[in-house]
Amino acid sequence: MENTKELRNWLEAMKLSHPLVIAGPCSAETEEQVLKIAHELKNTDATVLRAGIWKPRTRPGNFEGVGALGLKWLQKAKEETGMLTTTEVANAHHVDLALQHDVDILWVGARSTVSPFIVQEIADALKGTNKIVLIKNPVNPDLSLWLGAVERFYSANVKNLGVIHRGFSTYEKTKYRNNPEWQIAIDLQHKFPDLPLILDPSHIAGRRDIIFDLCQTALDLNYDGLMVETHYDPDNAWSDAAQQITPATLKQMTIDLKIRKEEGDAVEFKNKLATLRTKIDVIDNQLIEMLGKRMKIADAIGELKRKNNVAILQSKRWNEILGKMILEGEEHNLSEEFILRIYKAIHQESINHQNKIVSQEKSLH
Ligand code: PEP
Ligand code: MN
Repeated sequence: MENTKELRNWLEAMKLSHPLVIAGPCSAETEEQVLKIAHELKNTDATVLRAGIWKPRTRPGNFEGVGALGLKWLQKAKEETGMLTTTEVANAHHVDLALQHDVDILWVGARSTVSPFIVQEIADALKGTNKIVLIKNPVNPDLSLWLGAVERFYSANVKNLGVIHRGFSTYEKTKYRNNPEWQIAIDLQHKFPDLPLILDPSHIAGRRDIIFDLCQTALDLNYDGLMVETHYDPDNAWSDAAQQITPATLKQMTIDLKIRKEEGDAVEFKNKLATLRTKIDVIDNQLIEMLGKRMKIADAIGELKRKNNVAILQSKRWNEILGKMILEGEEHNLSEEFILRIYKAIHQESINHQNKIVSQEKSLH
């Protein structure tokens, strides 16, 4: 991708005074539902109406979308409200139908981005189009797969591109439905600063209560827009009920979100500083999460040592870890003194954890 400036033109052409807001239901359910939501969204910052027509379900048996019929409802919503429309396409047939029904923006879903075959099929079907195409991150945390999809569209002469960050699936249950892994989106932004980046907080959160904070973090990281699942009756939505919010909540949210505009030297300095600080916060959260995970493993080792009556402190193993980490530290420009201090503290915390486990045993007797 040589002239990546082209990637931003469509966003600038929209002349928005705020980040792009795409909103609408996870799935189009009925004509009335699509129209009612579209009309309610007219009073918000949302300028693009989203609705899934074909729903890729991880397990069969859930609502799989209304199909092509729903495209007519989107067309009607556009006529009545003047909003642009967007839906997910997952094969060449979907692309044909979406184009026939004048859908303005097409998005590629997370389950499609993982497959270069599918991505290529969609890119070929859209060859040379002026339509905007937004590519969601793949389900698994793999930056190259995401970039590879962008490159396939770019090579098919689709220049109006953007990406949507919707988080990454993990086997372990966390507070998120899909772990944000902000670092991956930050890396992508660093590589292609002109590629519009949009956050989908709904699929990251999987629940309503953390959507606001996710949006604020994205704005602090200079994202270009938000795609938020919105329904007039979220609890009774046919898919993704727990994560949808009402148009009224969306409206309040966009009022409460702090959006920093990049203008003037002092403001620019403040913005840059705030962005860097948010990046630090992301990494600090990761550090604490990793330390927590490490301590859990130390607990399991403590349990094992207790059962086998082995001493907690094993200095040979400890010296091996230190030696390895000092070398590793050198590669990352971290001094030996720093590594020693950090690892002594970590080691002490592990010992405290293990002591607790062993003393629990003693108090049982
Ligand atoms: C959706 O946007 O409703 C959807 C299915 O998203 P994803 O591809 O991110 O799971
Ligand atoms: Mn959804």
